[in-house]
Amino acid sequence: MRYTNLFIPTMRETPSGINAISHILMLKAGYVRQLAAGLFIFLPLGWRVLNKINIILKEEMERIGAQEISMPILHPAEIWQQTGRWYTIKEEMFRLKDRTGRDMCLGMTHEEIMTWIAAKEIKSYRQLPQIWYQIQTKLRDEARSRGGVLRTREFIMKDSYSFDADEAGLDKSYKMHAEAYHRIFSRCGLKYYQVESDPGIMGDLESHEFMAPTPAGEDDIVICDNCGYYANVEVAKSKLESPPIVNMEFKEVYTPKKKTVKEVSEFLGVDERYFIKSLLVITEKEPVLVLIRGDQELNEKKLARLIGDFYFASAEEALNLIGVEVGYIGPMNQKIKIIADNSIDKDLLYISGANKKNYHIQGINPREHFKAEWFDIRKVKENDKCIKCGNPIEIQKAIEVGNIFKLGTKYSVPLNAIFLDKDGKEKPIIMGSYGIGPARVAAAAIEQNYDKDGIIWPKSIAPFDIEIIPLNLSDKKTVKIAEELYEKVSEIYNSFADRHMEVLIDDREERPGVKFKDADLIGIPIQVIIGEKGLKDGKIEIKKRRTKESKMVPINRAVVEIVNFYYETF
Ligand code: ATP
Ligand code: MG
Repeated sequence: MRYTNLFIPTMRETPSGINAISHILMLKAGYVRQLAAGLFIFLPLGWRVLNKINIILKEEMERIGAQEISMPILHPAEIWQQTGRWYTIKEEMFRLKDRTGRDMCLGMTHEEIMTWIAAKEIKSYRQLPQIWYQIQTKLRDEARSRGGVLRTREFIMKDSYSFDADEAGLDKSYKMHAEAYHRIFSRCGLKYYQVESDPGIMGDLESHEFMAPTPAGEDDIVICDNCGYYANVEVAKSKLESPPIVNMEFKEVYTPKKKTVKEVSEFLGVDERYFIKSLLVITEKEPVLVLIRGDQELNEKKLARLIGDFYFASAEEALNLIGVEVGYIGPMNQKIKIIADNSIDKDLLYISGANKKNYHIQGINPREHFKAEWFDIRKVKENDKCIKCGNPIEIQKAIEVGNIFKLGTKYSVPLNAIFLDKDGKEKPIIMGSYGIGPARVAAAAIEQNYDKDGIIWPKSIAPFDIEIIPLNLSDKKTVKIAEELYEKVSEIYNSFADRHMEVLIDDREERPGVKFKDADLIGIPIQVIIGEKGLKDGKIEIKKRRTKESKMVPINRAVVEIVNFYYETF
């Protein structure tokens, strides 16, 4: 394609007030423009990238036998009411009424509608298994739409859904999707991890996220490169050793004005690991006292999975409920429910609040002195020991680019998606749901691949494969060679991408400096530079965008050299 036929509004200035590199570069390089909060326009280059990703998505989905369909974005409320999500999802759902006053919503995802059609059409085990997918718009009134196209209010998603007769079938569909996702993200040139994750609003069964590590990520993931344990911090576990037992006489100790574990630990000269931290939280139903070892931190997501949404009690609420100031609360003699973290060792003696101002109690034994329900509600920290192999773990920031969920019968039961099994019995269909956001994949690819001059696309998702840059258009020879190369390279079959080479020629009447800057900014993998100086020796320059490695090659070998350079680069 010709540059003069393409709308590529590159910018020289870096837009201000924007944090994510991918956001800055997509704007600067003329890939996208922002319409309003969380709403983006994809310009020609941006749309080409999305389409490249979509082709990979389609190929890998069809490879596992998934069938493409298309569903409406506008949904009647009743179906969402039947599964209950009309009520449990709050402001994130766009809702509206049609002209007859009927409640409608804009699809945030399509479990409900997919299950609805399965309920209507699938009657027998003979029709199973099925995998249906679409690449289609979702709408979500996101609270934090930021980071450019990483989190928008309207975005395209590849969402697929599996329908099976039994658990073994679901296992197979789930595994096929995991394998397809590995191929998809590898083909898109991403560095990524498949991590254990919290199924959240999707269900309660097994789920994994595919995470692209980059400092721009909103999630923290635990990585053990020794054994391959990868998990979202929201669910990650680690090994924690107990300190040796220390004998303490069971008694109250005067700790004037010392409230935090750190303060009391320093005051008494006892290691923080011998403390029980008591946190008072309040749910819709009741107050709960949460206990955790003094040197550890609460993982709020883990706790919320156990007790539902909660908040930390204010000083006043604590005083009303327990009768003592925050800082002196302890687990003994409590009437409210207590949830304790497994980091507290039932065989050790601890110090905690005495439920009396300015006092703590030492020598508390969990078996003897209080009753609690025990769970893992601890936040994993960098350098903790891996739960599987015991090696130190690492924590990295990452972007969630895709996820896979086992839904089981969560949607098929309420929507009555029932089939007749081999044994003549009626059973609910066993489902799975699997999502990928192509725009997020593109942005994550930029976050992982850029330099000070601009984007460096992995070649599989670059908007073009090769950019030809004739420097001086008033030089006839330059133009002739450039046009010939444009023709010839465009005819070459690109066996890496399974199509012909896509070539961009910068046929603008611009200074070389402008062309070079734009070429580096938009990030096409291979640049072919045609200048009068080289032509005098019968040569042109070819250059890899990623490494800036370049060489002069004779004109008669140019096509071969360009293609080789392309295949060599990542
Ligand atoms: P997040 O935790 O980041 O909000 P999610 O768990 O809500 O993501 P899903 O609903 O499972 O994500 O969506 C599947 C995929 O769609 C995600 O992995 C991501 O690639 C993409 N996606 C989700 N929300 C957005 C958004 N607001 N903007 C762009 N892409 C998104
Ligand atoms: Mg979300």
